[in-house]
Order: sequence, then structure tokens, then C-alpha cells
Amino acid sequence: MSNSGGETRGVERRGLMLVLSSPSGAGKTTISRDLLRGDDNLTLSVSVTTRPPRPGERDGVDYRFIDRAQFDAMAKAGDLLEHAEVFGNGYGTPRAEVEAALAAGQDVLFDIDWQGTQQLKAAKRDDVVSVFILPPSTEELERRLHSRAQDSDETVRARMAKASDEMSHWAEYDYIVINWEIGRSVTEARSILEAERLKRERQVGLHSFVERLRAG
Ligand code: 5GP
Repeated sequence: MSNSGGETRGVERRGLMLVLSSPSGAGKTTISRDLLRGDDNLTLSVSVTTRPPRPGERDGVDYRFIDRAQFDAMAKAGDLLEHAEVFGNGYGTPRAEVEAALAAGQDVLFDIDWQGTQQLKAAKRDDVVSVFILPPSTEELERRLHSRAQDSDETVRARMAKASDEMSHWAEYDYIVINWEIGRSVTEARSILEAERLKRERQVGLHSFVERLRAG
């Protein structure tokens, strides 16, 4: 039994919230996808957003695409664990799904910005593990944004300006990964997750486990 059902090798464990933030184009989406693949105990928090879908994005998978009235209603009703405005659009984390996943012993992965990370930390400090992903250089960031080819030149320019803003928040995060090479970055992110799962205070079943060991 390894890392399933909220247990680490048979010891009951509290779920954690793994937050990944970065400027757009630093490789966060690829890292998230690779982390989720092959880890049955990690589930993605699918955000709601008022921005229109990009080509290839699927409703309910990449985001839940909603209109401004729905977004405002969710925020007002307290149905969002955190929410923020990014590039003039509303983004938010639906509360119910996250709480259900954590209660079921799952760890939850969040792809959210620094504003959302601050709100999650304020709400659930002990359960949040935050990772900031930096691009190896400005040139590489710009190249990646252009090669995505899904955004207009104007959007790319806006995102480059925003990237500098986003990166100024790096020091608020627990861990920093510089994305020199995607395979290595995925390994580093996975190592962070594995180590955090082993934190003593998250393994709530340790007391009884050790009692049993000592009782022979
Ligand atoms: P994009 O439009 O490129 O998918 O995302 C733009 C930014 O919004 C990214 O930095 C992404 O991490 C952030 N974001 C996505 N979902 C959420 C969310 O639910 N809450 C917050 N605060 N930021 C989000």
C-alpha cells in the first residue's frame, strides 16, 4: 500500500495542498501534467474562470468556463476558496471539490497565481506547500510564450509585462524550481511532494503505528 487512500505505506496521513505558481510560459502546465500522471493520490483542482477557452482547452478539464455573473455569485456565496483577477478575468478555486478531495485522503494540486497562494496560505497554512517555478531566462520565457502561438502578439506583450510582476513574489514561496530542463524540474517537483508527504505532522497515524511497533 503506497501513497493511496490518504496513507503512506499503511500510516494514515493528512492530505496536502501543493501550489505551483509561475509566470505564464515558465513550464508550469507541463510540470503539473507530469506530476498528475502516475500519481493516483494527487488530484488537480480545476479552477473556474471568466476568460474564454483557448483552442484545445476543455470545459471541466482545464477550467470550468463560466460567465462573470456566475463567478460573482460563487464568490459572494463563499463557494470559492480563493479568487483573483488576472489579465482582467476572474479566476477562482471551487471550495467543495477541494474539501471533498482532501477529506478522501487525496493531495490536491493547484495551478494558481501569487494572489491565490496568499489567500490559501492565510486560510490553511499548515496544509499548503508552495512552489514557484522560474524560467531560466527572459529570452526563453518570451520564446515559449511565442511558440505557444495561441495568444496574440498583444497578449504575449501583456504577459511578458505581467511576468516581471509575478516573479517579484518568488520569496513568498516555500520552494523555488528553476526550469532549466523540464524532466529535471518534474523530478524536483515530485521530490518536494514526496518529502512533504513524509512530514511527521502530516502522518497522523504515526502515534498508533509506533505504539503497535513498541507493543511488538
Ligand atoms: P491562464 O489564463 O494562462 O490559464 O492563467 C493565467 C494565470 O491565472 C496563471 O498564473 C494561473 O496560474 C492563474 N490561475 C489559474 N487559475 C487560478 C485560480 O483559480 N486562482 C488564482 N488566483 N489564479 C489562477
